[in-house]
Amino acid sequence: MGEPTAVTQPSHDPHCIFCKIVLGEIPSARVLETDQAVAFLDIHPVIPGHTLVVPKAHYAHLGDLPDSLASHAGSLLPRLCRAIQAATGAAGLNVIVNNGRAAGQTIDHCHWHIIPRFDDDPVNWPWPQGEYLGDELSQMRFRIERELGEVPG
Ligand code: AMP
Ligand code: ZN
Repeated sequence: MGEPTAVTQPSHDPHCIFCKIVLGEIPSARVLETDQAVAFLDIHPVIPGHTLVVPKAHYAHLGDLPDSLASHAGSLLPRLCRAIQAATGAAGLNVIVNNGRAAGQTIDHCHWHIIPRFDDDPVNWPWPQGEYLGDELSQMRFRIERELGEVPG
């Protein structure tokens, strides 16, 4: 029996539309490209100028990304935001990641949306918000801190 094969994250998924865009197998309107990420116009914009920032390596979800790749993608956001806002004349921007089906993610290759916003645009925001009752807030804080390893036990 040979040595066990190390399990490594594949850098591209042959069935993934964003991997195909990264590899140039299907066209995209690129506005910025680095060695690790690419930004291109969303083909079905919420508002014209809607741009996607996509790490070149295939990771389905934000939580899967190595910190260094997340940092790199994040480092592109301020410059892109300035350019998109100036180019569109938008009054503001939403920068969001849909993470998982329940959150509206349809393409399982992690990406950031940058969406120009205008005072009178038809986008439905904010989402409905709720309240914590009793000790629900402190319980939630505890659970998340525990998952982060920020509290003992
Ligand atoms: P999400 O729902 O967060 O996974 O976002 C996927 C986004 O990719 C959607 O906003 C789509 O409009 C966009 N999209 C899908 N195919 C393409 C494509 N070929 N080029 C550019 N954007 C695309
Ligand atoms: Zn992919």
